Amino acid sequence: MNKEMLRKNLDDVIWKIEKARLEVNEHHIVQMVAVSKYTTAENIKTLYSLGQRAFGENHVQQLEARAMELEDLPLEWHMIGTLQKNKINKLLEIKPSLFQALDSMELAKELEKKLANKNQILNCLVEINSSKEVTKSGLTPQSAIETYLQIHEICPHIKLQGVMTIGAHTDDSKIIQTSFETTYKIYEKLQASGANICSMGMSSDFELAIKCGSNMVRIGSSLFQE
Ligand SMILES: *Cc1c(COP(=O)(O)O)cnc(C)c1O
Repeated sequence: MNKEMLRKNLDDVIWKIEKARLEVNEHHIVQMVAVSKYTTAENIKTLYSLGQRAFGENHVQQLEARAMELEDLPLEWHMIGTLQKNKINKLLEIKPSLFQALDSMELAKELEKKLANKNQILNCLVEINSSKEVTKSGLTPQSAIETYLQIHEICPHIKLQGVMTIGAHTDDSKIIQTSFETTYKIYEKLQASGANICSMGMSSDFELAIKCGSNMVRIGSSLFQE
């Protein structure tokens, strides 16, 4: 992709985020993570030159390759996909800024063990399966608060920062909205326990997510479409 195309896409997305966040209120700040799983390292470099710093990948392998290839740039890496237990060591070596898909107590315990061994801290979001789709991972909305508090209590090397969800997979915006509202309500209750990130919204639904209270959106295809 050429730089002008990327600049145009980035400007479009930022403008739409700006518009949506101002409808919430002028103090509502939204961070954008550019999801680079569909694109090349070259395009990541170009986006960096245009001012983008946070990038997300959903596979540890690819995250590792990119973080290494681009290690000279001060990028902020987010792991946004499901983490297999046998990839924990690799993820910890990469030292991502944020792991957004902590989806079970079992994984939290496994992470805690390895983090404690390495004397390392990992910033995490708990993933919530807010649409209750069987194909999605994440905690059920019913169990999310209890599990979050439990992880907070027994995993001192996991620094919980909030919640993440993927909106319902449908064209019906009412149903998508309900999944975001469900997640936001959980986030609100967890703010007293230090939650400050509510990560929801992708290319097809980020404006709706922001209106429902999201303060972190994860945008892929809209940035890299030609
Ligand atoms: C791929 C992906 C995104 C970005 O999706 P787009 O629709 O391309 O913006 C966001 N979040 C997660 C967890 C993803 O896997």
